[in-house]
Amino acid sequence: MADDSARRVVVVGAGFAGLACARSLSRDPQVAVTLIDKHPYQLFAPLLYQVATGGLPEDDIAYPVRAAIPGIHFVRGEVVRIDPSANSVRLASGLDVEWDDLVLAMGSIGNSFNISGVDAHALQMKDISQARAIKHRLLGTYERVQEGEQAREDLQVAVIGGGPTGVEVAGAIAELQKQMAHEFPQIAEYANVTLVEAGPRLLPSFSPKSSERARRALTKLGVEVVLDSVVDRMYPTDIHLKNGRILSAGTTIWAAGVAVEERWRVLGEADRLKPARGGRLPAPDGQRVGHR
Ligand SMILES: Cc1cc2nc3c(=O)[nH]c(=O)nc-3n(C[C@H](O)[C@H](O)[C@H](O)COP(=O)(O)OP(=O)(O)OC[C@H]3O[C@@H](n4cnc5c(N)ncnc54)[C@H](O)[C@@H]3O)c2cc1C
Repeated sequence: MADDSARRVVVVGAGFAGLACARSLSRDPQVAVTLIDKHPYQLFAPLLYQVATGGLPEDDIAYPVRAAIPGIHFVRGEVVRIDPSANSVRLASGLDVEWDDLVLAMGSIGNSFNISGVDAHALQMKDISQARAIKHRLLGTYERVQEGEQAREDLQVAVIGGGPTGVEVAGAIAELQKQMAHEFPQIAEYANVTLVEAGPRLLPSFSPKSSERARRALTKLGVEVVLDSVVDRMYPTDIHLKNGRILSAGTTIWAAGVAVEERWRVLGEADRLKPARGGRLPAPDGQRVGHR
């Protein structure tokens, strides 16, 4: 329990980083922690692809924040503004929460790199509602194609980005398509998955051996792996690559990188910190993990 003279620390975001930070600080009686998140749960994002392909129910990857840190002062709300001069954050509800120290741990959003058509036509997989939207699109397309309401080609799926998320989701969709073949044998042959990666190998942050193993495993599952291919622009069911190839897909999943939400990038200018790749704010000395 924090004493009355405790420093008020507000942690925004109850994801992996925010939760760990709040848990650690809440053990210190000289710190009064307030944890804020727009959701009442912590999302286990590594398993989002399972929700997107119907392998797991949503509840299985969302853990209540209050149960994760019993006794924590948790405020459910979306932070819409940060006022460094007043040391306060404003929630969408209008509530202002004041702090002595502020920890920002709001995670990231999908990065479309301003490529034309991506925001309009591709599905992202960063939160539960987006994973749910992918599941509905994938399963709903089978129903609509079967009823003749959609073209058979719409059963084709493209996943853009050959990092861990793209590799996992492409493999899971190939497995889903195999299962769906039992329910929709007349149209199953039109379903396929193409995984597009800009670089020369999958999983660029892993060893070349792992990249090759992933490529072979996906190919065995029936995924077409397209390397060295950068998306130039997208239309509702067409993806134009810079090398001139055009892919057709009724569902496109964008897994090509992350960025900081636009509205928080301005903080970098206010603090004279030059935003780095994807709008990330470089942490000055003294604000890094492990600094004492
Ligand atoms: C599909 C997928 C698969 C992944 N697989 C792996 C993996 O296998 N291994 C691995 O190490 N990493 C994986 N990651 C990455 C990992 O999930 C992230 O690195 C991690 O979640 C980042 O933690 P974080 O706390 O910074 O952000 P997050 O976990 O995203 O948490 C941010 C929190 O902030 C909240 N929030 C955001 N904006 C606001 C606001 N304005 N007001 C209030 N609350 C807000 C959100 O609701 C969320 O709870 C994966 C990510 C995805 C999307």
